[in-house]
Amino acid sequence: MALKINKNYKKIKKNYIFTEISEKKSNFLKSHKNAKIIDLGVGDVTRPLNKNMVAVINNALNEQLHKKTFKGYPPENGYDFLKKQIVNYYKQRNVSLTIEEVFVSNGACCDVTNILDLFKKNKTIIANPTYPAYYDSNFLQGNAIFLRDANQKNNFVLSPKNLKKRSYIIYLCSPNNPTGTVFTKQQLKEWVDFANLTSSIIIFDCAYESFISDVNLPHFIYEIEGAKKCAIEIASFSKMAGFTNLRCSWSIVPEELNINGYNINSMWSRRQCTKFNGVPYCVQKGAEYALSKNGQLECKKNIQYYKTNLKILTKCLKSLKIECFNSMHTPYVWFKCPQNYTSWQFFDLLLQDYQIVGIPGLGFGTQGEGFFRFSAFASRKDILIACERLKNFAIKKD
Ligand code: PLP
Repeated sequence: MALKINKNYKKIKKNYIFTEISEKKSNFLKSHKNAKIIDLGVGDVTRPLNKNMVAVINNALNEQLHKKTFKGYPPENGYDFLKKQIVNYYKQRNVSLTIEEVFVSNGACCDVTNILDLFKKNKTIIANPTYPAYYDSNFLQGNAIFLRDANQKNNFVLSPKNLKKRSYIIYLCSPNNPTGTVFTKQQLKEWVDFANLTSSIIIFDCAYESFISDVNLPHFIYEIEGAKKCAIEIASFSKMAGFTNLRCSWSIVPEELNINGYNINSMWSRRQCTKFNGVPYCVQKGAEYALSKNGQLECKKNIQYYKTNLKILTKCLKSLKIECFNSMHTPYVWFKCPQNYTSWQFFDLLLQDYQIVGIPGLGFGTQGEGFFRFSAFASRKDILIACERLKNFAIKKD
């Protein structure tokens, strides 16, 4: 009998949106060799790491030179020094965790998708538009995906209102990629109550929590009463500390999280120990530093830099009478394409006429049609050039 292949790989869209965009960009460069493209597309950090952090990483790497300090495989779920530091980080927002609830990993993208290993086929709730990895991984697994609109009509806020009361895997992302929406405590409480009522599980992706600048907005789902009974949280050093290359993230799986008599914490630990061999010691040392008092202050400087970029970009778009949404607590600006362009038409126009790359909203789901996302993870110089070029858009338009 022939091997059984996962046929969903044939059914899924051929390219991940970000791959499609890089292909379009490189095709354009083939025919416009001297073009200086300003890339505000893929949300990858550009600021270098802080010197002190690199010194910590280098020192940790140097430990591998000596017999006494040499280290082999790291613990699968992370070194205690980093897990303790993460526990302390949560204490800053009055969330108390045990180190057994913390799992260090090599990326939030891996965690939000690998977590599906703990479940058989299920019904999954995903926002439309959404960060594409949730949709793709659930599609590949063969889950029944229930897309829920988070569009202009509901201020881009995903809500459990009118949802059939049954068990789901629920993906929530706050601050949201791509729309920038941040749940209030009240909005998040509605989801936690819904999940507890229906024995659902929430996968809460807070990869951008460090961009929240309003102290009253929740960074972590465990700030909400009842969340430890229904939620797994996934966070990352990628955008907070500039670790998109170094790769380090964490997930929180509460010890009290049980589903039908199965303890999710021990299942996740078992899964990670079987399929993952840990994050390098020197990277975890850098991550520990990022969450130290000084480290947090240093990381904040880069975050502030990107946020200032975003302010400049948003101001420029608004001056062109382009409608922008929710860009206070995120590195992205989500805006309506001007003059009723579709999002791919606007992408092509920006690339061809202005040599600016962004992400068409449709790439995040059908409800993203007519919208567009710019990333502020660029140099100030590039942001200013982009704004200068966009001013010509106004001139051409008039
Ligand atoms: N979650 C969201 C919402 C993201 O936007 C991203 C990356 O852009 C990730 C997760 C992936 O983060 P990591 O670099 O930790 O894999």
